[in-house]
Amino acid sequence: MLIDAHVHLDKYGDRLDDALREIENEEIFTVATAMDVPSYLELRKIGERSDLVLPTFGIHPRRAAEYAGQLRDIGHYIEMSPAIGEIGLDFHWVKDSSTYPAQRKVLEYFIAAAAEQNKFVNLHTKAGEKDILDLLEKYDVRRAIIHWYSGPMDILRAMIQYGCYFTIGVEVLYSDYIKDIAKGVPDQLLLTETDNPGALRWLKKNDEVGLPTAIKDVINAVAALRQSTPDRIESLVEKNFSRLIANDAWVSRYSSLASPPGHAH
Ligand SMILES: [Zn+2]
Repeated sequence: MLIDAHVHLDKYGDRLDDALREIENEEIFTVATAMDVPSYLELRKIGERSDLVLPTFGIHPRRAAEYAGQLRDIGHYIEMSPAIGEIGLDFHWVKDSSTYPAQRKVLEYFIAAAAEQNKFVNLHTKAGEKDILDLLEKYDVRRAIIHWYSGPMDILRAMIQYGCYFTIGVEVLYSDYIKDIAKGVPDQLLLTETDNPGALRWLKKNDEVGLPTAIKDVINAVAALRQSTPDRIESLVEKNFSRLIANDAWVSRYSSLASPPGHAH
C-alpha cells in the first residue's frame, strides 16, 4: 500500500472527486492534515467518503496568530482528532516576526496535548527545526513525522537520533539538497508525502494541480537515490507507517490498515 503521510485534501476544490478516485484506485493511505478549524471540519466530511483518508487536526504556523487566544477551543478539536497536524513553526516564509511568539505558544499547546493524549504529530519545521526538536524532547513526544524537512544537516542528524520520521516529497525530483536528505534518512524512519495539491505549483511556480498519484514519482525517485526498487521502498514506507500507528485505537476503524504491521499488500 502507498502512504501519503501529508496532504491538504480540503484544497482540491472541484478536483476533489478526481483526487479521491486516485486514492481509491491506487490504494493510497492518506493523512489529511488541516490548516485550521474550518479546514479540519471540511476534512472530516471528506474523510467520510473514503476509509483510506485519515483527517487530522492542526493549526498551521501561518494561522497560529489567529488562534493563540483560543487555546481552549482548539483543545476541543484536538480531543476529536486521532492524530495532530499540520502544526509547527515557520520563521522563514512567514515574514511577520510579530507572529512568532503566537506560533510558539500554539505549537507548545499542541505538543503538550499530543504527549498527554499519545497522538502522533505532523510537523512543519521551516527555520524552527532546533526549537521543534527541543519541544519534542521536553514533552517526550516520540512519534513525530517531520514533513518536507529542508533544514540544517546537523539538526537532521539530531532528529534522526531522537527517532523522528521524515516524509520525502515531490521536491526530491528537483533539489539536490532534498536528494541528499532522501539518501540520508535511515530505512526505519523513511516516509513519503505529496503535500498536494499545492506542492508542485509552489515548486514550479505554475498552476499545476498535484494529484495523489504524484506519490509514485516520489517513490521512484527515492528508490533510484537509495539504490533500491519502487516496490521495496513502497513496502518499507508501509512498514514504517504501520509501526508508527500500531498501538493507536483509531486504526481498527480503518479496514485498509487492519492487517498486521509490516504486512505488504
Ligand atoms: Zn502541508
